[in-house]
Amino acid sequence: VDPAASLDAPARALRLQGIPLPIVGRARVYACGITPYDTTHLGHAATFVWVDTAVRVLRFLGVDVEVCRNVTDVDDDILAAAKRADTPYDQLAAVQQFRFDQDMAALGVRAPDHEPRIHRHIDGVIRLAGHLIARDMAYEANGSVFFRGADVPARAGLERAEAERLVRAHGGRPDEAGRADPLDAVVWQRAGAGEPGWPSPWGAGRPGWHAGCTAMAMTVLGASVDLHAGGSDLRFPHHAYEAAQAEAVSGVKPFARTWMHVGTVGIGGAKMAKSAGNLVLVSDVLRDHRPAALRLLLLDRRWDAAWDYTVSLLGAAESRVDELYAAAGRPSGAPAAEDEVAASLLDDLDVPRALDVGIDAGGAAARTAVRLLGLPF
Ligand SMILES: [Zn+2]
Repeated sequence: VDPAASLDAPARALRLQGIPLPIVGRARVYACGITPYDTTHLGHAATFVWVDTAVRVLRFLGVDVEVCRNVTDVDDDILAAAKRADTPYDQLAAVQQFRFDQDMAALGVRAPDHEPRIHRHIDGVIRLAGHLIARDMAYEANGSVFFRGADVPARAGLERAEAERLVRAHGGRPDEAGRADPLDAVVWQRAGAGEPGWPSPWGAGRPGWHAGCTAMAMTVLGASVDLHAGGSDLRFPHHAYEAAQAEAVSGVKPFARTWMHVGTVGIGGAKMAKSAGNLVLVSDVLRDHRPAALRLLLLDRRWDAAWDYTVSLLGAAESRVDELYAAAGRPSGAPAAEDEVAASLLDDLDVPRALDVGIDAGGAAARTAVRLLGLPF
């Protein structure tokens, strides 16, 4: 916390995509975390490094920031991966979570204040389902509970057909028996044979993916959040349903004051995905590159734009780190430059401009850039 920053300019706020996010006291940040079944690739890393940077900039303003980053440690993807690996799902999740934590620490991402795991929030999901049913926003069928989702695509500006395509692409099963509408989403999933299940009023089952985040966010941070972050591929269906379910129960709108959907990282024009076999893992890059270079590679661009990873970009990031650190060792120039570094970051997290200013001016301006960008030394 840098109290001087807020006292000098009390109306300063972080602006994201032109929308200011004024904070008076506490900022509640929810970052959609990992489903721990494979190790951290650059797409995951980009999301959490950007959230960490946004949080550092908010703290620079002198406000308290409370960060909640969940772990979806019970989910269809984990169960399938555990089956393939012939490993208990909770063991697989624990090992992958440990590796993820190591990667985050290497990249200088601070541990969140809260790290709820869905298997510890079963009661919250059951209460969420109960309240949704009581308001006729959800219904039970065949031991599962479904949220009425016909209006949700409109939240994301989507037509029904495109919405159904995206639901399928994210592992949803719109044609599953029991749904009144293909766009209804699972709040509570009946446990199949051999699957883990917790007791509920509707029989043994587990939380639906979107409902899990709704329950964890509301339990930890309350009926709404100031900043909700995640990869841009989570915009729909995950975040749209998460928010719709929260608003249906609490009546507090909007559930998220600001969304930060971080651009996806691709390779050779294709999305980085385990199924495509084109993952670039953080641990592989860090074998022969400095963590600061990888962190800067992820940050030296627009936060909301999709981009393609190449080895030459990583080389350029190595040079940029050298330039910045050399500049940080020079004597300080005009004090205005230091302020311009901060102003650039407050203006839609403009890291490229903050770096240019810091490197040109050197001294305190460069050190401010190093500090606010959370670069490991
Ligand atoms: Zn989520």
